[in-house]
Amino acid sequence: MSQQGYVAAPPYSQAQPGIGGYQGGFGPGPVQPHYGHYGGGAPPTFQAPLTGGMKSPVLPPPVSTPSSPSNQQNGAQPQRYPAAYGQPLQSTAYNSMASSAPPPAMQLTNQMSSLNMGNYAPGPVLQNPPSATSLQQPFRTPPPPQMTLGSQSPHMQSPHMQPPQMAPAPSISMGSPPMGRPFPGAPPPHPGGSRGLQQPGPGPVGPPGYPQQAGPFGGHMAGPHPGPGGFPAGPPQKKLDLDSIPSTIQVIEDDQAKHGGQVFSTNIRGQVPPLVTTNFTVQDQGNASPRFMRCTTYSLPCTSDLAKQCQVPLACIVKPFASLPKNETPLYLVNHGESGPIRCNRCKAYMCPYMQFIEGGRRYQCGFCNCSNEVPVFYFQHLDHMGRRVDLYERPELSLGSYEMVATLDYCKNNKPPNPPAYIFMIDVSYNNVKSGLVRLICNELKTLLDMLPREEGADNSPVKVGFVTYNKTLHFYNVKSSLSQPQMMVVSDMAEMYVPLPDGFLVDFQESRAVICNLLTQIPDMFADTNESETVFAPVIQAGVEAFKEADCSGKLFIFHSSMPTAEAPGKLKNRDDKKLVNTEKEKTLFQPLKGTYEQLSKDCVAQGCCVDLFLFPNQYVDVATMADVSLHTGGSVFKYNNFQVEMDGEHFLQDVRKEVQKSIGFDAIMRVRTSTGFRATDFFGGIHMKNTTDVEMAAVDCDKAVTVEFKHDDALNEETGALIQCALLYTTISGQRRLRILNLSLNCSSHLSELYKCCETDSLVNFFAKSAYRAILNQPLKNIKEILVNQTAHMLACYRKNCASASVASQLILPDAMKVFPVYMNSLMKTSPLTGSTELSTDDRAYQRLSVMAMGVEDTQLLLYPRLIPLHNMDVANEAPPAPLRCTEERLADSGVFLLENGHTMFLWLGQASPPDVIQGLFNAPSLAHLQGNMSVLPELDNPLSKKVRAIMRDLLEKSPKSMKLQIVRQKDKPEMMFRQFLVEDKGLHGGTSYVDFLCYVHREIKQVLT
Ligand SMILES: [Zn+2]
Repeated sequence: MSQQGYVAAPPYSQAQPGIGGYQGGFGPGPVQPHYGHYGGGAPPTFQAPLTGGMKSPVLPPPVSTPSSPSNQQNGAQPQRYPAAYGQPLQSTAYNSMASSAPPPAMQLTNQMSSLNMGNYAPGPVLQNPPSATSLQQPFRTPPPPQMTLGSQSPHMQSPHMQPPQMAPAPSISMGSPPMGRPFPGAPPPHPGGSRGLQQPGPGPVGPPGYPQQAGPFGGHMAGPHPGPGGFPAGPPQKKLDLDSIPSTIQVIEDDQAKHGGQVFSTNIRGQVPPLVTTNFTVQDQGNASPRFMRCTTYSLPCTSDLAKQCQVPLACIVKPFASLPKNETPLYLVNHGESGPIRCNRCKAYMCPYMQFIEGGRRYQCGFCNCSNEVPVFYFQHLDHMGRRVDLYERPELSLGSYEMVATLDYCKNNKPPNPPAYIFMIDVSYNNVKSGLVRLICNELKTLLDMLPREEGADNSPVKVGFVTYNKTLHFYNVKSSLSQPQMMVVSDMAEMYVPLPDGFLVDFQESRAVICNLLTQIPDMFADTNESETVFAPVIQAGVEAFKEADCSGKLFIFHSSMPTAEAPGKLKNRDDKKLVNTEKEKTLFQPLKGTYEQLSKDCVAQGCCVDLFLFPNQYVDVATMADVSLHTGGSVFKYNNFQVEMDGEHFLQDVRKEVQKSIGFDAIMRVRTSTGFRATDFFGGIHMKNTTDVEMAAVDCDKAVTVEFKHDDALNEETGALIQCALLYTTISGQRRLRILNLSLNCSSHLSELYKCCETDSLVNFFAKSAYRAILNQPLKNIKEILVNQTAHMLACYRKNCASASVASQLILPDAMKVFPVYMNSLMKTSPLTGSTELSTDDRAYQRLSVMAMGVEDTQLLLYPRLIPLHNMDVANEAPPAPLRCTEERLADSGVFLLENGHTMFLWLGQASPPDVIQGLFNAPSLAHLQGNMSVLPELDNPLSKKVRAIMRDLLEKSPKSMKLQIVRQKDKPEMMFRQFLVEDKGLHGGTSYVDFLCYVHREIKQVLT
């Protein structure tokens, strides 16, 4: 049975003189990268495209190539797809399998064949059997037979582990599609004559009249590569159609169609979950919900040699506080009493479904280290005839993938129960912030927002205490004790030794001190209304927060609202070190490196105290975000940046962010430990974290949007039968000051066949891993190296699949694993993001900001960031409740007469085509035409008509789902701000360099071929 997933046979892949010349430009050999995975293996043999300079591959005329026999790739059971582009012949059998063979794959083959294969032979074009795709369907994947044979340790996929009351999800009963069944179709006539494929340099064709890729858009790109000799006169050249290459939108839609609205039960080991973009419900039946843990692959290679061979990173993205939809059960709380949670004596793993009870229930064998442990007397329970504890389903820790455990005093600092956390609001009251109206805006908002502080389920009040500081060159603390009639201010001007001048009355209960606090919030804007002070301090502000938490013996969060670079004489004083001359040099990394010293120490102090720092920046110029935001990154805080803040334009956007941030569910003073079964272990961690040693991941706080990406490496061989187990334990303090453990368990398959690994890959998780690892590498390496490695690894991963998992086929075919079909588009998009774009036109702070934002992102967020949502609004059915289906992110999908919404979790654009229908403009803006619109709009007027209501509802929905608020930018086609919008059309060429998706795919294909030869 073939494992091929995705087949194409582009003629561009022929080794040609015109392309060969390209390689020479890189000199004798690639720079040896420092960054990379499995660096110990063979040195990379690929070359990355030069930034912005990748030549469009142009195909010389077809050379003579062996024909049909060598095209029969699928061995014994060839699948024949008709090659007539656009109208595949489908037998009935094929139709019944429609979902297992993605239409784009077919189209690609069809088009490719019409372009290429047809040139050489009239023979059939053979494609991947549907089985390759159908194997990807998680619901249909039966547990490997050996897993059900009552092996030594319990596995979740064993039927007896399934709670009897739970019916299997309907999809499970659908059964597997027939495997390897031929779907004959008449070989279509191939287009006669020879055809070449040309990648025109200027990029995809846009709407008529639009300056495509010219000028600003095409400036960095080389034109079409003529190739020696060019094309001989002959038949017309044909451009590679976008519709013929894998589409992210299609993949998302297919997965939604397959799994949308269904229940995903986590009872099967190594089961690949639906995509993050799919709406599904999770039922925990022994493995952690994919909302908490997602892996790059659900089948690990058995040996490190295999892992090195394929170079697919083995990683898990853990989002321990992920929000659950209302219809999913919140985590149960387990209490093992005074002696604390039951753990393996040797490896300290917590009691979980992977512990196997033996000797009549008196002992249990640890699934992680195999140690045999005694069952504590109070925990003893008899086993049934199947060897299961009879209380299995009464105990979440024996039957569920995720649960919480009560932590005893041993798990608390100084063996003392913690106090509830506190939130301190620290407002920069220097000239800029006062003048912009920001200080007043914040103070007004806090009066109502403080009623929304997080609270335990069902509680009337929040246990979170609050405190207030204002500052410029000095710090002002406020006593807001409830017994006072007026708040009192205490000024600290000694910045070198920060202390909190108020032993009492600084951190208070909002409900009790409401009157005094509201009084204070009313007074603050007036107190500083006439300030001329423009200098600020910054590090002492954070230090003050840490000291306040120390004093109160609690953890907590600082909300810092800051405007400018801290230039006042104080620890952590910064100076402008922005230098555009460093861009694209070896030293570019220094722009991203935070200054060490004060800030490094501050991060450690914060983490030690459980002090999380949220930073809201309002800069008018460079402020050294790389340094200023570093403490936030390492303390699990969030960073927000509002360039040239204006209350009217940005006020609401900012307030939405503060509201989300204040109300978020969050845990404090956290420490995470990832344990694994023998044979592999966690070796690297990416996220808003601090590592004191190699195993303990410390986080001052972790909220519902923060994720840690964990990379695994082999220690030894893994066992196919027992699989691989991961237990992630997060010890933290709740909002009400309880010490708890959140335990997340996940079991994966292991295989000595790489085809299994590729089949169980998760592109969105892979991309999350690559984004974080590349963004971290920015601190140490030139961008050029990093991009080279990204391209090399992409090609290598795909080449290894081609070599080991796809059956013999002609070299000119591009074959992608079904689960990684759109991996290249994401990788290409990643390389075009601003941190990885060496352009002097980009602001250093903006680049640093994006780098930091991504480091703690979960899979949903990186997916959306790298493939934004583009929604057409001009032709939607306003009566339909669902929003219109998104389109591919390319200029080709825009239309002069269209109106489109684009968002990526950070930014939202409303793009208005120059020929937008007047009724749409009227409906949205109450204006007769585009010409009547004002520039710089950031809100849609609230109009009482169906279109306006519908569009605003779509935007509201998107904003609600997003961790951050997004400022709406309304851009008209051909207006200057439209440039900003265009850089999010990730399938097109980058605004500041970087290739189009089509070109990238061609390039990767060539690289793959090089590896294979
Ligand atoms: Zn153990």
